[in-house]
Amino acid sequence: MTIASPSMPEIELAASAPAGDQAHVALVRGTLSSGFPWLLFPAALEQRFLTAQHEIRRQHFLISGLLALLVFNGFLYADYLMVPDAFELAVKLRVGIFTPTALLLLYLFWRSPFFTQSVAPLTVELVCMTAGLVAAVCLAFILSSTVSPYAHLYHVGFMVVIMYGNVVMRLRFWYAVVYSLALTAIHVAGVFMLPGFPERMIVPIMSLVTSTAAFTLTACYVLERDERRRYLMTERERGLIYELSDAQERLRESSRVDDLTTLYNRRHFQEQAQQMWQRAQFDRSAMAILMLDVDHFKKFNDRYGHPAGDTCLKKVAAVIRAAITRHSGLVARYGGEEFIAALPGLNPDQLHALAAEIGQAVEDLGIEHDASTTAAVVTASIGAASCVASPKWTFEKLLNAADEALYHAKHEGRNRAVVQSW
Ligand code: GH3
Ligand code: MG
Ligand code: MG
Repeated sequence: MTIASPSMPEIELAASAPAGDQAHVALVRGTLSSGFPWLLFPAALEQRFLTAQHEIRRQHFLISGLLALLVFNGFLYADYLMVPDAFELAVKLRVGIFTPTALLLLYLFWRSPFFTQSVAPLTVELVCMTAGLVAAVCLAFILSSTVSPYAHLYHVGFMVVIMYGNVVMRLRFWYAVVYSLALTAIHVAGVFMLPGFPERMIVPIMSLVTSTAAFTLTACYVLERDERRRYLMTERERGLIYELSDAQERLRESSRVDDLTTLYNRRHFQEQAQQMWQRAQFDRSAMAILMLDVDHFKKFNDRYGHPAGDTCLKKVAAVIRAAITRHSGLVARYGGEEFIAALPGLNPDQLHALAAEIGQAVEDLGIEHDASTTAAVVTASIGAASCVASPKWTFEKLLNAADEALYHAKHEGRNRAVVQSW
């Protein structure tokens, strides 16, 4: 919707939301109704979704990462109890290598402009997934270096790492699938490649790990589906609110505007001109009211028909609008074939010149009017009044003065301008 100037309302009632937003809302609605079983939106929407969630996820990764690091090091006690022969290696891996690397990464997540601003959202997922996998590789290393009789129970640790990635860190589902498969593979390789795994325990422990992967992946899927649905519903709501406020704005605009001429209507003119008057009073500056009435317009309608009358009014309105806008005035259709303008800061000479110019311009339109007793073409009578806005004047008095001037213009023979200035 565009309004070119206060006195020149050019409304396009058909236009509403910017095209981009409308397309987005349509895409949101379409995706909501068609569903997204593969947890992927159409490309344009997917990108917006990932970008919108990026900051929340960055913070989530930061907090869950710190938590995980505490737990990861807490497991040193389990190492001490279960694999005492590999305890030294466990300390080196957990405290000496993994922890400082993870802390550096977390610091970058927290502070670096790369992670806070420019990184692609999915790269963050990739980095987090890799961190989880490295934690699992640490476990595999410890496992490969122990001959402890409890080593097979150590595989339970993979369940924790899987749960962390799929439920706590809540990787995006497809990343979680890759993550879970990789972890399960490391676990299975550990079972079969390392010597000494009790055969009786293969099925129980492998089923614990794989069912943990399956269940947490299910949870991951459901959580992401709900997160995506919530996003779509919020976007749909935002679209509705946008449409509603846009419709309201259009309604408000159309209630200010005259349909035929697209000039402001009388009610809006009165509100705006009153404000203009108050400003003029405050500044003690000049203000003028100019009224224009098309001569013998009833006869014009009778002679050429109502549609021709409408066309004539539109042309006259365009002429007045052009002239008044040049003087930063406010112009409106006051009723039937009457127009009105409020002009701030014009001196009497300028007002005279403007009134004469508008009268001439209407005549120059050259709209044939052979039923007129004034001229062969459509003409207009103009009454204008101006004053310096002082306490002894009111807006109503100025209006009446302009109306009187118009009355005189009519009675002095029409097709003329009468101007009164104080
Ligand atoms: P005068 O020279 O004294 O102003 O005479 P007039 O005929 O112009 O004035 P009058 O008030 O007698 O008639 C105004 C006419 O304007 C009557 C009405 O049918 C016509 N009119 C009012 N609104 C519209 C409109 O929207 N479209 C058309 N075509 N005519 C309109
Ligand atoms: Mg009239
Ligand atoms: Mg008239």
